[in-house]
Amino acid sequence: MSIAQEIQRIQQELAQSAAKLIVVTKTRSIDELKETLATGLVDFGENRVQEMVEKQALLPSTIRWHQIGHLQTNKVKYIAPFVHLIHSVDSMKLLVEINQQARKNQRIIPCLFQIYIAQEESKFGLNQDELIDILHDPIFATLKHIRIVGLMGMASFTEHIPQIKKEFQSLKTLFDHVKTEKIGEATGLVNWEEISMGMSGDYLLAAELGSTLVRIGSAIFGPRA
Ligand SMILES: *Cc1c(COP(=O)(O)O)cnc(C)c1O
Repeated sequence: MSIAQEIQRIQQELAQSAAKLIVVTKTRSIDELKETLATGLVDFGENRVQEMVEKQALLPSTIRWHQIGHLQTNKVKYIAPFVHLIHSVDSMKLLVEINQQARKNQRIIPCLFQIYIAQEESKFGLNQDELIDILHDPIFATLKHIRIVGLMGMASFTEHIPQIKKEFQSLKTLFDHVKTEKIGEATGLVNWEEISMGMSGDYLLAAELGSTLVRIGSAIFGPRA
């Protein structure tokens, strides 16, 4: 199937859910990105800063670039002028730098906190206590050039569906908690709206469990080299 056909198939599967498709374009060629753009989709996800910056320079400014991978503090400045949403905020230090670079660019950068939900040791992210600590930190309330719009998580790399389900549910439960309790909202910097969860292998499960943003690459383009 072509890129357009795969996208259409996935869009149909997601039609009954609240989940919006972010096309994960990392490692894909400019031609593949142009083919994607021709379908009308404009939300593209990249995990490496340099790759995003190079592609952004070559493609239309209608594209909304999502930073989905771990972000190093010293690289924020390269994407700050144009990034649409940063999914991977996992420290106060990173948030302070995003705020500073957003201010330099006279804009507000929307962000998600990445929450650690997997069993594996290697994944980045905050636990619940660390999240709450950041939201209650007096410094947080001063970061007028960021907006927190939700949470992101990555499930374990496993075929074991009950495990993945448990991890997605834990993210949804945490989201419902912070939303119901309006945690951080008094700062005026927080709107609990988005849950970014679900990739090629588990997006239907994620959509069922309340995802609003699914990040899909290989189910559209085939396996990465
Ligand atoms: C690569 C990547 C994806 C997409 O992975 P696929 O399995 O190709 O759909 C989603 N989220 C993040 C953070 C990624 O790095």
